[in-house]
Amino acid sequence: MAISAVNAIGVLGGTFDPIHNGHLRLAWEAHTRLGLRETRLIPCHVPPHRATPTSSAHHRLAMTTLACAGVPGFTVDDWEIRRDAPSYSVETLTHLRQQLGEDTRIIFLMGMDAFCQFTTWHQWQRILELAHLWIAHRPGANEPAPGSEEARQLQRRRVDHTGLLEAPAGSICVYDSTALDISATHLRAQMALGISPRFLLPDSVRGYIEQHELY
Ligand code: ATP
Repeated sequence: MAISAVNAIGVLGGTFDPIHNGHLRLAWEAHTRLGLRETRLIPCHVPPHRATPTSSAHHRLAMTTLACAGVPGFTVDDWEIRRDAPSYSVETLTHLRQQLGEDTRIIFLMGMDAFCQFTTWHQWQRILELAHLWIAHRPGANEPAPGSEEARQLQRRRVDHTGLLEAPAGSICVYDSTALDISATHLRAQMALGISPRFLLPDSVRGYIEQHELY
């Protein structure tokens, strides 16, 4: 079977405040390397693990939609934003699993910084029953410390990227991705000083930020 025929989708959740090329490159590398039929970007409404975002859900959704426009296979899912409750990843993945059926490979995408906290997440074991993890390198984030639960999970479940397509869920791939040292926090701080984010996020997103004077 050709890899592009595989019944697999990627899922990238985030605050996207604003969405930037670090997010997009992470999603694109997984999308193309695995031949995913779709990659969904899901802006969160109320982040459970972090301070309130500085732009409204409406603006974050609009920026994510602009960033994905014209990217083959990328879609934006407003499910978390429409919910009137904290959006735990396990709930989103449960919803996706119900929507997509038991056979679809669900690949949950994240940076190494996020993975290093993974076993503090709500019902993290259940997440691994619902999805695989694809972990991208991120400057400043090393692999989990030896002896940590994350290191144990990695040792137990690690596969190369093709291994993710062999079952619907339960494996972890650390992909040798292009490390881009871009963070939304840093971009917001730069924009607050009047420094342009050009070339670090899509021009369409930059135009939207300027038009709405977001940061
Ligand atoms: P902030 O700086 O506000 O924390 P962020 O840039 O980390 O924001 P999030 O929306 O919190 O962006 O990140 C969503 C997901 O994207 C996380 O899994 C995070 O690890 C990943 N990610 C964000 N930026 C990068 C990057 N430059 N390289 C790899 N992964 C990234």
